[in-house]
Amino acid sequence: MEQLHPALQPVYDTVLHRNPGEREFHQAVAEVLESLNPVVDKRPEYAQASIIERVCEPERQIIFRVPWQDDSGRVQINRGFRVEFNSALGPYKGGLRFHPSVYLGIVKFLGFEQIFKNALTGMPIGGGKGGSDFDPKGKSEAEVMRFCQSFMTELYRHIGEYTDVPAGDIGVSGREIGYLFGQYKRITNRYEAGVLTGKGLSWGGSQVRTEATGYGLVFFAAEMLAAKHTNFEGKQVVVSGSGNVAIYAAEKVAQLGGTVVAMSDSGGYIVDESGIDLDEMKQLKEVRRGRISEYAEARGCTYVEAGSIWDVPCEVALPCATQNELDEKGAAALIKNGVQVVAEGANMPTTPKGTAALRQAGVAFAPGKAANAGGVATSALEMQQNASRDSWTFEHAEERLHDIMQGIYGTCAMTAEEYGMPGDYVAGANIAGFTQVADAMLALGVI
Ligand code: NDP
Repeated sequence: MEQLHPALQPVYDTVLHRNPGEREFHQAVAEVLESLNPVVDKRPEYAQASIIERVCEPERQIIFRVPWQDDSGRVQINRGFRVEFNSALGPYKGGLRFHPSVYLGIVKFLGFEQIFKNALTGMPIGGGKGGSDFDPKGKSEAEVMRFCQSFMTELYRHIGEYTDVPAGDIGVSGREIGYLFGQYKRITNRYEAGVLTGKGLSWGGSQVRTEATGYGLVFFAAEMLAAKHTNFEGKQVVVSGSGNVAIYAAEKVAQLGGTVVAMSDSGGYIVDESGIDLDEMKQLKEVRRGRISEYAEARGCTYVEAGSIWDVPCEVALPCATQNELDEKGAAALIKNGVQVVAEGANMPTTPKGTAALRQAGVAFAPGKAANAGGVATSALEMQQNASRDSWTFEHAEERLHDIMQGIYGTCAMTAEEYGMPGDYVAGANIAGFTQVADAMLALGVI
């Protein structure tokens, strides 16, 4: 970790003390505080009002029991979370993650990142995140539905279109949002479409929401390439993961003329030199919910079990699976093979040492809070359509997404320059996101 400004070290010490054992949250806070070193002297009013300390403490943290019955009649117990982190800019907004690794520290790291990401979109949304240690893998359709209904039976009292608006994340896609929304509607007797985003197109969803995070990531990476006077045409691209973000990132890369040569899941990775067949991948992951090894069997391409996807040579790398999946070893392999651009589709997929190695080697590096903000931005567009009872065409929604991603890129690049760190998208994103929230917090008083 870099040396912190003397005004920031006590803030970080308090975070460590107050949140013991939550290492992902510590990591996310450290990354932002490092970037704020130059802000402390330039904007002393923030320290005077303890804004930085306040932004590190969630406004509200909710933990609840989620009982549900499995198909054999046994009662299972999971734990549910919603961390309502910061509402200075608007209602809390951020996804729900269903994965066995979920605990308070993961939800807090995601919620903390979400504050600055949402600010960068320029939309009126605060930051929050939630989820459960429930594992949808291997569960029947009926079990997933019963779990979602039980989860919402507690969550409903904390959310609302003006209060807190959840969406999907790992393990939560259109299917789960459907069951959650159905239960919310039943309990409240209101068709409050704006309470959840990521809905299906026939019941209040927005065009492009499914594609938004992946497409937005590639729009952002295209700006990074443009700054290097190049583009995706003919580029070899590696995309980790094979979920929502990864699949639509790969789709946009292919549309822009790049070739996605490798993708992965938690079991291993595949290499298909001729370019991944995305129709096959969508059938496998979105319909059959199978393993990526089956793609290799069907297409006769390479499957590497439990290896590092970052060993596959590429010019652009898009980590789109999960936190801390790209470490210093992965970064070294990418650098050795001549990577030019790394843009994070997942949240915090690169470890601090991995990030440092890439930046030192002069690789253009974009943090998730800027590069993957297209998902939440399109969620805000979904809320906008719900509020006006309108629905836009695919082309219009995609154009809005493209404009927003170009805007976020411009904000990050300009802020980095303003603070004397041209090309440093990490500093640009953290400073721009933070100052926007901090100014609103100052205006709203000590609350
Ligand atoms: P999905 O559940 O659709 O896909 C997740 C993918 O990552 C799967 O391929 C999964 O493999 C893999 N994965 C998950 N956990 C691990 C792990 N511990 N080790 C290795 N691989 C893993 O999730 P999303 O695509 O929605 O989310 C991916 C990332 O993007 C997350 O970091 C999320 O927070 C972030 N994000 C998502 C947004 C969205 O709109 N969906 C918006 C912004 C960020 P397997 O199936 O084997 O588990």
